Amino acid sequence: MTNIAFIGLGNMGGPMAANLVKAGHKVTAFDLMPDALAAFSQAGGNTAESAQAAVAGAEVVVSMLPAGKHVAGLYTGDDGLLAQLPKGTLVVDSSTIDVATAQAVGKAAAEVGVAFVDAPVSGGVSGAQAGTLSFIVGGEAENFERAKPYLEAMGKNIFHAGAAGAGQVAKMCNNMLLSILMTGTAEALQLGIDNGLDPKVLSDIMVKSSGRNWTLEIYNPVPGVMEGVPSSNDYQGGFMVDLMNKDLGLALGAADAGDSMVPMGKQAAALFAAHGEEGNGRLDFSSVFKRYQKG
Ligand code: NAD
Repeated sequence: MTNIAFIGLGNMGGPMAANLVKAGHKVTAFDLMPDALAAFSQAGGNTAESAQAAVAGAEVVVSMLPAGKHVAGLYTGDDGLLAQLPKGTLVVDSSTIDVATAQAVGKAAAEVGVAFVDAPVSGGVSGAQAGTLSFIVGGEAENFERAKPYLEAMGKNIFHAGAAGAGQVAKMCNNMLLSILMTGTAEALQLGIDNGLDPKVLSDIMVKSSGRNWTLEIYNPVPGVMEGVPSSNDYQGGFMVDLMNKDLGLALGAADAGDSMVPMGKQAAALFAAHGEEGNGRLDFSSVFKRYQKG
């Protein structure tokens, strides 16, 4: 059993922290939202009134926050956790954030003797609940090995992508591709509907054909085709459009900086940006399907 502090109990962090509890660890968590803390208490976790209180006595700190500014705010600065954590503490940041912030926090951690890995995830809320996430880790090999047992309590596929920040690079590439697959799947399904096909029948056909992809197979964007996914729950829960827009901003920013050609990524980013601006930012990203529906 390890004393673990967990910061950020949102759609992803809540079930991830609950899986650490199930694995037998003593987990003390903090989130800004009282409801998230109450749900974690019910899952058998301990709660704290601040991040500073949550990490007291922790050997490992895991964070799952929205964006780079939240992660930098949590760890760095005069009242950041790095000023408080004892040498040797392991910090695992699983938020999806910009590479520069991940590297800067990693560097600041190393300066005070704290072991830091960036460990963004793939697999969505269902993967977080089932403990089947993929973790894509950046950081020193030694720190990766230390983090692995905890990541295995929350996930199934644990990858070491490379040095600090490499986890975020791999994650940004993955999510740009995911945005392209989701918009492409939505438009193919609506094309079928417009030509008289039942979207469930079309999905069954394409899942066994060369158009097969993750969004079609386990995250179908058409309401009613699949149970237990956000599209069948008014696009609530899941992975918010605002977060996808953040990730696409990271990918396009890196593409600009490195002179990479990303025409498909730019198309998907334009669609998701318009979708978010029209008031859908807090819906799951599969709600982009609504843009293609008629009437
Ligand atoms: P979310 O908005 O549901 O959760 C974020 C939580 O962090 C919220 O509960 C919020 O109250 C809390 N928070 C914010 N600032 C805080 C602070 N300073 N101290 C304590 N708590 C704070 O987001 P999510 O869907 O859980 O996503 C979290 C991260 O995981 C994001 O970086 C996202 O891009 C990434 N991600 C999400 C999914 C998904 O399917 N939702 C999949 C892969 C990766």
